Amino acid sequence: MPAQGKHRSSKTRRITRAAAVVSAGGAALALPLIGATGAHAATGDTTAQTYTVKSGDTLSKIADAQKVDGGWKKLYDANKNVVGSDADRIKPGMKLTLDGAEQKASTTATASSSDSSGWVKPVDGSTGTAYHASGSMWSSGYHTGTDFVVPTGTAIKAVGPGTVVSAGWDGAYGNEVVIKHADGRYSQYAHMSSLGVSAGQTVTAGQQIGLSGSTGNVTGPHLHFEIRTSPDYGSDVDPVAYLRGHGVSI
Ligand SMILES: [Zn+2]
Repeated sequence: MPAQGKHRSSKTRRITRAAAVVSAGGAALALPLIGATGAHAATGDTTAQTYTVKSGDTLSKIADAQKVDGGWKKLYDANKNVVGSDADRIKPGMKLTLDGAEQKASTTATASSSDSSGWVKPVDGSTGTAYHASGSMWSSGYHTGTDFVVPTGTAIKAVGPGTVVSAGWDGAYGNEVVIKHADGRYSQYAHMSSLGVSAGQTVTAGQQIGLSGSTGNVTGPHLHFEIRTSPDYGSDVDPVAYLRGHGVSI
């Protein structure tokens, strides 16, 4: 089998970087923030909703029709200042807030869609050497990423929104970009021929971050792509499973 597009031995490499102080534990705390942001947006939408009481309405009728999460009691609680002390005394023309109506459902939908929207493959190309392929050519004893077989000069894209942690030369990986995402995971793009971003820069999903190449320890041009729990070598997780978890077809 030809060694085209693979790594050569990099047993001696050892990465240390200032950015490495970001712990996986601290990063993991960022995960609920996605949901929190989504929930906030959803709540903002629903708080703007009001309902004008019509003749013959009751709180339970309105709660059912408007799918208020928590039923008429929740609706009454949210509108005590308008309705007064007696839940039966609602009058036509009263404006009730539907705060809480369908809140649970919208929050879920918003959180899941923001999680999966916009994520892309790092490059348009087919995958070569798979994650965890074993072999003596890798310092860890197995392949820590997934390779995409693409010619030099192919656009490399950020798989999701994030912040560039580093962009520069990294030994066996050649020209490399590492991006931190909101869920505390890091994506790494190696062997690039040119870098289009710099450390500290914010990127969007699908934004071009440079061009593919064959820099570092390679026998041919390809993109080596990793997902990590820290910015550093050795904290890799399955990149294909990760991308699929974000709705990417791969
Ligand atoms: Zn590789």
